Amino acid sequence: MFDRFGRQVTSLRLSVTDRCDLRCFYCMTESVTFTSRRELCSLEELDRICGVLIQLGVCKIRLTGGEPFVRNGFMKLVRLLSRHLGEGGLEELTMTTNGIRLSQHAVELLEIGVRRVNVSVDSLRPDLFLAITRHGRLARVLDGITAAARAGLRIRINTVVLAGLNEDELIELVLWSGDHGYDICFIEVMPLGSSGRYYMPISRVQTKLAQRFTLTESDYRSSGPARYVNCVETGQRIGFIAPMSSAFCESCDRIRLTCAGILFPCLGQEHSVDLRVPMLLSKENTLLVTAIAEALRQKSRGHSFAHNHVANKYGLTRRMSVTGG
Ligand code: SAM
Ligand code: SF4
Repeated sequence: MFDRFGRQVTSLRLSVTDRCDLRCFYCMTESVTFTSRRELCSLEELDRICGVLIQLGVCKIRLTGGEPFVRNGFMKLVRLLSRHLGEGGLEELTMTTNGIRLSQHAVELLEIGVRRVNVSVDSLRPDLFLAITRHGRLARVLDGITAAARAGLRIRINTVVLAGLNEDELIELVLWSGDHGYDICFIEVMPLGSSGRYYMPISRVQTKLAQRFTLTESDYRSSGPARYVNCVETGQRIGFIAPMSSAFCESCDRIRLTCAGILFPCLGQEHSVDLRVPMLLSKENTLLVTAIAEALRQKSRGHSFAHNHVANKYGLTRRMSVTGG
């Protein structure tokens, strides 16, 4: 699958639900309205769409949300998708989670064929963690991470960098994750319905880290947009995702599917194509393939995020939990 700018699309982010057991302030409001059950694709429907996308060339799927584990039957979906691993054309099945329910499922994930998980930890201070997530108990997340590591899953910690909130914890986060053998990735906050007032450019993070650690170039690439360096002192990889200050659109290989079967060719644009209706209209996949081709035609050259906190205008009204981070 190629878009009209010649970029090959090989990676799918599947938001299995837009619901979550936390309410990170940059991601959701307290009283967010979720996709209704009527609009929701069943697990089998999501699996069918993924199967078609895999046939068309998607070889990496990251399950995300909302919080994937709050979707009923989530592990059944992971199992269904795992049959494509290997000869089925799927090279990698991974997930991003807030870690709250990870400990219950870690062993099963590994058995099914998941090898890596990303877990979000914005702070190691229980009170700040609670304030950012509005409901989160840090200890549960840390237990989940420990269980996942013990089960044999490779861990990457995702930290959204928030000016004035966790910016003085960055060194501590690197030391803690390095100590445990986890990679860590720092992410610029994106204006997906959230205030840009905590925005901090990744260059500032890099400057802070370089004052304390020896960082060397790494040519490692994960399936996402992170750029990595090696940290000599801790031996871990540190990733940076800087959608705001240095767009990575030129090498974008991703599309995003929501739990309602809406395909977004770009996280940072509003246009989308409904795959649910063409899927339900026919048992054959011809209409579905046509709709996917239409979405690819719509994939734009780049995102249109822009922080404009003076006017308090946000780049987009759609939140990250809809299309999945
Ligand atoms: N619930 C899971 C979690 O928190 O890891 C998966 C979904 S969450 C939307 C995926 C990632 O997106 C998380 O690392 C989260 O911190 C990040 N995220 C959410 N809203 C964001 C925003 N406005 N800007 C940057 N990252 C954001
Ligand atoms: Fe939930 Fe993840 Fe969004 Fe936080 S970032 S509210 S954990 S979906």
